[in-house]
Amino acid sequence: MSELEDLIRDRIAERGPITIAAYMQACLGHPSFGYYMKQDPFGAEGDFTTAPEISQMFGELLGLWAVAGWQAAGSPAPFALAELGPGRGTLMADALRAASGSHAFLKAAQVQLVEMSPALRAAQETKLAASGIEAQWHDTVEAILAQSEGTFFAIANEFLDALPIHQFQLTEAGWRERLVGLGEGGALAFTLSGDPPPDFAVQILSTRSDQIGAIAEFCPAVVGTAQQCARAIAERGGLALFVDYGHERSAAGETLQALRDHEYVSPLASPGDADLTAHVDFEAVARGALAGGCIPFGPLTQGEFLSRIGIQQRAERLIAANPDHAPEVTEALDRLTGEARMGKLFKVMALAPQGVIPPGFEAGEAFQL
Ligand code: SAH
Repeated sequence: MSELEDLIRDRIAERGPITIAAYMQACLGHPSFGYYMKQDPFGAEGDFTTAPEISQMFGELLGLWAVAGWQAAGSPAPFALAELGPGRGTLMADALRAASGSHAFLKAAQVQLVEMSPALRAAQETKLAASGIEAQWHDTVEAILAQSEGTFFAIANEFLDALPIHQFQLTEAGWRERLVGLGEGGALAFTLSGDPPPDFAVQILSTRSDQIGAIAEFCPAVVGTAQQCARAIAERGGLALFVDYGHERSAAGETLQALRDHEYVSPLASPGDADLTAHVDFEAVARGALAGGCIPFGPLTQGEFLSRIGIQQRAERLIAANPDHAPEVTEALDRLTGEARMGKLFKVMALAPQGVIPPGFEAGEAFQL
């Protein structure tokens, strides 16, 4: 049993079951034993591989997307170039290398990173320093906004899926929050709260399903993150781009998942030793964006978005420059854009101020509630 599991079981034994959000927070962010806090989980030897780790093309294209958006905004200087949850720093390093065609962009960009993990902050610092990039680190989006002025561009890949969700289940007595408690032999087990959730939550949940037994998820941190970014962009100008796996519309269903050594395991099996995520509800992102005063665009599928911003041409150029790498580049292209691979499940939503259409999107593609 992990040390974190001991701690969680003690806490439940003393004070009763905890919400799934509190459980997720502990599993991912516990200062000593949290999944992201103690290690680098990415890559072939890690538990999962993300788009920037699959191919340099991903970060490069997002960098060129940011340059296009910045130029369309009138090339404001200086401006904040934020990344939420930068992992190993690969995306940002690739983005800025691709952006180096625009000296003005590089000169004006103040790189601001939101990262909770000291281990990953160190990895990011090493990676970026090797490319001569200076950055500042923050715990939250709010902290960036408090410490910077000017236009705000933000990019996040597989960040929202790591934010803590709440789950609810419809019972004969109405909706009840799902909790993590202790089952037989003291093992961690799902249970239900005896009390109903607040009225506003019941109102939202009742639009999801009326089937007894249905499970629905809600992630206040996703809405809050989108709203904060949107408020900054509405006031200061800029854009945000969220890339993640998830669904276009709020719906009933259970998507909490745990991944260890590239295999799915039970979310309760090894707290702190498996990556714990949930699918992102892009309707919730859109609602947060609208509440913050921005227009949400998309979501487009990742395959469609990357095609529109030129991944095929980028792949051809890489192959022309280095024909030996053709098989790897072709495989990465298929992995990032193929419908049966990441191309369809992963989605891309952009947030823009009123009247601005983000690069890669069209006027008619604003999200309709
Ligand atoms: N964007 C990277 C990493 C994705 S994993 C990539 O695509 O490879 C999620 C990242 O978000 C990690 O860097 C993790 O430490 C960070 N993270 C997760 N939850 C966070 C939170 N609540 N606050 C700050 N950073 C967080």
